[in-house]
Amino acid sequence: MKFETLGLNKALLEAIAITGYTDPTDVQMRAIPEVLAGSDVLVSAQTGSGKTAAFMLPALQLLAEPHKVSGNGPRVLVLTPTRELAMQVTKATETYGRKMKRVRTVSIVGGMPYPVQNRLLRMGVDILVATPGRLLDQMQSGRVDLSRVEMLVFDEADRMLDMGFKDDIDAVVAKVPEDRQTLLFSATFDDSIVRMASAMMKNPVRIDVSGHKTRHENIEQRLLYADDLSHKNRLLDHLLRDTEVQQAIVFTSTKRAADDLALDLINQGHAAAALHGDMKQGARTRTLENLKRGRLRVLVATDVAARGIDVQGISHVINFDLPRQAEDYVHRIGRTGRAGRSGIAISLANVRENFQVKLIERFTTQMIPVITIDGLEPKQKVFDRKPPGKSFNRKGAGGNNRGHGNGNNAGACSKDGDKRSSFSKSSFGKPTFSKSSAPKPGFVGKALPAAAPKSDTPGGWKKASSFAAK
Ligand code: AMP
Repeated sequence: MKFETLGLNKALLEAIAITGYTDPTDVQMRAIPEVLAGSDVLVSAQTGSGKTAAFMLPALQLLAEPHKVSGNGPRVLVLTPTRELAMQVTKATETYGRKMKRVRTVSIVGGMPYPVQNRLLRMGVDILVATPGRLLDQMQSGRVDLSRVEMLVFDEADRMLDMGFKDDIDAVVAKVPEDRQTLLFSATFDDSIVRMASAMMKNPVRIDVSGHKTRHENIEQRLLYADDLSHKNRLLDHLLRDTEVQQAIVFTSTKRAADDLALDLINQGHAAAALHGDMKQGARTRTLENLKRGRLRVLVATDVAARGIDVQGISHVINFDLPRQAEDYVHRIGRTGRAGRSGIAISLANVRENFQVKLIERFTTQMIPVITIDGLEPKQKVFDRKPPGKSFNRKGAGGNNRGHGNGNNAGACSKDGDKRSSFSKSSFGKPTFSKSSAPKPGFVGKALPAAAPKSDTPGGWKKASSFAAK
C-alpha cells in the first residue's frame, strides 16, 4: 500500500516524499484512514513503529480546513509523558507540515523558561504539544485556552499513567470540548489504559499493531549473567569496545547510577554522557544533540529520560540494570532498531534476578537467549530457565528480587546444576539478522542450554540456535 491510497492531501504527500518514506508502516496504514474518517482510535503500537506520523499526518490534514470558531487556542493537543518526546513530536510536525501554508506548533514542557513559552502562546497555536504538568500550570495561569481543541492525542499513554500524570490528565481533559476526536497511543495495554480509554473516548476503533507480545524481529535480544557489580563493569567495557557498536544506550535504574557509570566509562576512554531527569533542560537537549550528531557513542540513561529517543545510530541497547517493570524492557529495547534498522539489546543480570527476567519474558512472551563472553563467564550457577507461559513458576524462580541493581548476588544457585559445559557456540555481535555460525573475535557468545527452548511454541519464541534468523 502507498501513502497515496490513505486519503492524505497533496501538501502532506509532498512532505512525505521529501522525507523519503516510500510506504506507510503498519500503524500508519491502519490508523490514518480511521482518523481521517473522524473515529476515535485506541492504538497499541511499539515505539519506533512510525506512530507519530500515524497521528500527526491526519492532525495536519484537519488544519487544512478552517475552524468554525475563531481564536488563538490550539486545534490539536498532543500530550506526551516527557519533554524529549514532546520535542520529537514537535519536530515531526514541522517535517510533515513543511508544505502546508502556516502551521504554528508550540511545545509546552517543564524546564523551559516561562517567558519564552508565554510569548509563543500569545502568538497563537494550531498544534500544542505538551507534557501534562506544565500544560496544567499554564492553563491555571489562563495562558492556554483549550476550548477550540478538535483533536486530542495521548502519545505513550501508558507511560503518562506510570509517571503519575492521571490527575493532571483528567484536569486537562475536563477543559477540552467533549465533541473532540480522541486518539490514544500506547505501547502496552493494561486495565488502567482500558479504563482511561472508556472514560475519555467514544466508541474507539481498536488498532492492535504491535503490542508487547510482538516479536521485535529486528532486535536481537540477549541475556548475559554477571556475578557482581565489578563483573558487570567488565562485561560492559568489553561490550562497548566491540567495533560493531555504533552508538549505545546503557540503562541504569537510578539517576545517581547513571552519573556514576557515565563517569566510569569516560575514565575508561569511552565517549559517554549521562541523561536523566535531574539534569537541566539545556543540558539534556545538548546531550541529545551530541548523541544525534555522533559526538557521543554511549548514553547512560534512566528510563524516563530515554523515553522517546529516536536516534537511528543506536545499534545497541544495554540494560546494565534490569528495568523495574517489564513494560520498560519493551520501551528500552525500542531505542534501537529504529526506522526499520536492526539492533541488539543485551541485558546484564545476576542469577538472583531471574525472577525479573522471567517477568520480562512472560510479558513479551519471548525467551531471551543467554550468552557468555569468552574469559568473562559467570562463576555462579544459572537456574534452569523455562519458556514463558504456563510453566512459569514463581516459587522456582529464586525469590522476588525486583529491587535489583546492587550487583551483589553471591551464593545463588540452582539445584538443576550448571550445564554450561555442553553449550554450543553461537555468533553474536553484528546487528543483523542473517543466520551466522562463525563466532566473532572478541565478542563471542555461547548460548546456554537452559535458554534454548525445546521447540517453537504459540508464545512465539524459538530455539536459541535459530533466534537470529528471521
Ligand atoms: P516513531 O515510531 O513515530 O517514533 O517513528 C520511528 C522512526 O520511523 C522515525 O525515525 C521516523 O522518521 C521513521 N518513520 C516513520 N514513518 C516511516 C515510514 N513510513 N517509512 C520509513 N520511516 C518512517
